[in-house]
Amino acid sequence: MPLPLRTLPVVQNWDCHVTGTCCHEYRVTLSEEEVQRIRQQGWTREELEGRAPFQYQGPPWRRMVQLNHRDDGGCVFLSREGRCRIHERFGYETKPLPCRLFPFVLVPTGDHWRVGLRFACPSAAANKGRALPEHQADLLLFAEQLAQREKLSPRQDGALTTPPRLDRWQQLDWPDTLRLVDALVGVIHSQKEPVERRMRKCLYLAEQMRQAKLDKIQGKRLSELVELLLAAAEQEVPALPQQVPAPGWIGRILFRQATALFTRKDHGPNRGIASRGRLALLGAAYRFTLGRGRVPQLHGKIPQIDFESLEEPTGPLPADAESVLDRYYTIKIGSLQFVAFGLPFWEGLESLSVTLPIIRWIARMYRDRPPAEAITQAIVIVDDHVGFNRVLASVRQRLSFRILARTGQLARLIAWYSR
Ligand code: SF4
Repeated sequence: MPLPLRTLPVVQNWDCHVTGTCCHEYRVTLSEEEVQRIRQQGWTREELEGRAPFQYQGPPWRRMVQLNHRDDGGCVFLSREGRCRIHERFGYETKPLPCRLFPFVLVPTGDHWRVGLRFACPSAAANKGRALPEHQADLLLFAEQLAQREKLSPRQDGALTTPPRLDRWQQLDWPDTLRLVDALVGVIHSQKEPVERRMRKCLYLAEQMRQAKLDKIQGKRLSELVELLLAAAEQEVPALPQQVPAPGWIGRILFRQATALFTRKDHGPNRGIASRGRLALLGAAYRFTLGRGRVPQLHGKIPQIDFESLEEPTGPLPADAESVLDRYYTIKIGSLQFVAFGLPFWEGLESLSVTLPIIRWIARMYRDRPPAEAITQAIVIVDDHVGFNRVLASVRQRLSFRILARTGQLARLIAWYSR
């Protein structure tokens, strides 16, 4: 019997508003069956404006087949009228599963699926459309098809996957792993204080839990330990961002390198200076390290602005902007989207936390807009990478995030860019 779905405790809406984001900006990886299906549909090069339907990525032993793209980033199957040719000719169900699934992210977690969302889709970030529970029937079907596509079958405990490791050595079963996830959701969705302090509390919990030997602490005792640590966090985590020391030079350099990564857009209509070649990218990397002068436009939505002006505080966020951040992080944490690419649990949480100062930093670029709109735009840019950019899980980048978290620089950066 298929596993049930669980949406998260936030009001999240979505419907497709034909922004064209997905068909213009993303690389759709196909399963063998989807490749065969498209081949059998018999598309000719003339119909696809002289291009082949597929392109190939990766080394021969890990070759991936993706939908081909035009020079403007649009999928080869996207007509000039902005419609999907596969959908038009053969029907919605014949489109590749990733096209139908976007922007939903379904994560098998123990005895159910959790529903996440990609806020890189502007409609998801802006909370426009029907409430998630109204998509239940489609999502159940997608979950079933996703399990088949990924060849996931129930293990002895009924789950489709093993739970993520907490760190290198520790791993809990699914019920205890979800106890931790739900405790983190409880913190990030608490609404009693700004999201920046909630995130610093999550990092405090991660730091303390790393040191605990969890092999003998399970079930109710684990919940009691988490409650104790959260009570301690109330005392230990400074209440205001102004009470947190400023980040040091190493924190600032690693932060700017991370901002370069999260603001880089190499495909589609919002492509930044990547279109000018490798030399331009090298120059941008140097300027991000230096952190002076004009911010390189790695993304088409980045305005002309200096690094210096992004250090000026913008003050606390109004309630509507806070609620955008609340919704974003509740969904990212609750749906376990932070443990992509096999990242251990605590490490994934830390790498997700890095996005908060980056979002606040980018939002400062849009001071002329209402804060909720500026935060939403920043999330759309950053979320393009969360859970999908493999570079975030590279050895070098993991080391960089680890240094930020273990030296306390990450909490300092969160506080600094929330002033
Ligand atoms: S196959 Fe259709 S839905 Fe999928 S990316 Fe291409 S145009 Fe968009």
